[in-house]
Amino acid sequence: RIKNNGKGLAAFFDASMEREAQARMKVEQSLRLAILEKRFCCAFQSKVDIRTQAVKGIEALVRLRDDEGVIQAPGSFINLAGELGLIDELTHLVLAEIVKSIDLINDTFGPEATISINVAAKQAGNPEFMRSFAQALEETGFPQRFMIEVTEDAFVAKNHFQDEILPMFRKLGVGVSIDDFGTGYSSLSALADITADEIKIDRSFITDIHNRPRSQGILRAIESLSEALGMTVIAEGLETYEELAYLQAATKIRYAQGYYFSRPIFLEELKLATPSSSEARVSVASRPAQQH
Ligand code: C2E
Ligand code: MG
Ligand code: MG
Ligand code: MG
Repeated sequence: RIKNNGKGLAAFFDASMEREAQARMKVEQSLRLAILEKRFCCAFQSKVDIRTQAVKGIEALVRLRDDEGVIQAPGSFINLAGELGLIDELTHLVLAEIVKSIDLINDTFGPEATISINVAAKQAGNPEFMRSFAQALEETGFPQRFMIEVTEDAFVAKNHFQDEILPMFRKLGVGVSIDDFGTGYSSLSALADITADEIKIDRSFITDIHNRPRSQGILRAIESLSEALGMTVIAEGLETYEELAYLQAATKIRYAQGYYFSRPIFLEELKLATPSSSEARVSVASRPAQQH
């Protein structure tokens, strides 16, 4: 509907706003449809011991296949899925996908590798969802294999996440990981009040770390606090040999996740790419592969 009020500019804005609203509706519809039709898949990225290159665990990273069959990374749909109330279902679907592929996951990454699932802060603050998700994890029969990754905001939010929700997961043996640490609003000292098994230092601190004295200082502080609190530290977004060399020479950080070790990979692709030798499987899993 274009207002015919004789003012060209107003009509132009009306028309462009209408186009925008229509475009948004189209995106919403296609997201609803994609989830309804289960047109999604998980890519897995390993968390690697930087000394031995052993895979400590993997993280499931969801992708959607749009109407044209193009694979979309979560940046383009996770927030919208949250707004539309579709994200809880998506998380349950991710878990179902993992359970379905568990044999292949074990063959590829080893039966000891932990399996991390991302939970948005909004989900973490919703006790109803968290209860149903904990129950679903329990029903897999192997809840101890899983970790949930939650950003620090969820921990400092004024709700029952820390006191009531987290203990429920920990009782099942599900690990708890603080994702993207350093990007939220909590201060370093807030760490002292957080109960978690793992802390993932955001990529923004790891990128070019060897050239950035301020990031180096922050890294040292997080490292010593985490050590005192008994949390495992993971460096996120490690891309280069120089970054790795710095971590090895100047820190005690033992684990990293990033393109340097492996891009997120699809299991089906490994199945196609690998012969039956398990050695070949491991080398494919830990070698940087094409990004998805
Ligand atoms: P995240 O949990 O912090 O995951 C790490 C992101 O960094 C992933 O992006 C990964 O592909 C990317 N990454 C890993 N290594 C490198 C590197 O060396 N360099 C660079 N530049 N990037 C790297 P992705 O897969 O696009 O996911 C983005 C975010 O979407 C995730 O950030 C997570 O917050 C969210 N997400 C992913 N899957 C799910 C899910 O199933 N549920 C929810 N609620 N959120 C999810
Ligand atoms: Mg994560
Ligand atoms: Mg992260
Ligand atoms: Mg991140």
